[in-house]
Amino acid sequence: RGGRGGRGNNFFKSSTNRAPRHSQPGEPGQEQHVALELRLLADVGLVGLPNAGKSTLVSSVSAAKPRIADYPFTTLAPTPGVVYVEEFSSFVIADIPGIIKGAHRGKGLGLRFLKHIERNSVLLFVIPVTSSDVRAEYDTLLGELSAFDRGMLAKPRCIAFSKADLLPGPEREEWLKSRSLLIPDVEAVMLCSAVAGYGIDALKRTLWTLVEQEKKNRTQSDGRRHGS
Ligand code: GDP
Ligand code: MG
Repeated sequence: RGGRGGRGNNFFKSSTNRAPRHSQPGEPGQEQHVALELRLLADVGLVGLPNAGKSTLVSSVSAAKPRIADYPFTTLAPTPGVVYVEEFSSFVIADIPGIIKGAHRGKGLGLRFLKHIERNSVLLFVIPVTSSDVRAEYDTLLGELSAFDRGMLAKPRCIAFSKADLLPGPEREEWLKSRSLLIPDVEAVMLCSAVAGYGIDALKRTLWTLVEQEKKNRTQSDGRRHGS
């Protein structure tokens, strides 16, 4: 609350003193120190090891311009971007700092960034085609997320295999097919290259569909909870 205001000169005006110099000072207001924590509300949260190509992907699907470099942890804070699928259809995607093994125990940038994806409705795992073991990479990411909060496992997940330009064109389809088989429980698996603009439109549309589906599911379960 603000302090009680003082009485100004005008209040002390009388028939004998038309211009009083006297006034009464106000009282101090209440003071409070508050620590605020950023919780980003994005529809899609990117999950990936450092250097997976997350920031590049965000900058190619949205107008956001996150910093991009080939050293880990270039992204130190989440960078949200709006993705326009077509007129009147858009969603928010957020690039977050890379996850490493031990993140849930505070390793790397740890919980500081894991917090940011708590509220995302869809998780997009970004794994580069250069990964030596995509299943192991996926398991690491999923392991860190679920160790942080098991609720993460309830969110729909999809995978974007990034940097597809590094695979020869004719091999891409076969590569995707064989890697998809290795990964269970995901809504969609896609191959894309932010640098070459390959698979980006399909990625946007798939994410849009998942975001809409998830919104519908949530409205329905909210309705049930409130008995309507
Ligand atoms: P992040 O750490 O996951 O955000 O990864 P960045 O987006 O910063 O990218 C890491 C490195 O991979 C950078 O050197 C990028 O230029 C490179 N990179 C990102 N996307 C692609 C891609 O589609 N193709 C190729 N060849 N390199 C990429
Ligand atoms: Mg980044």
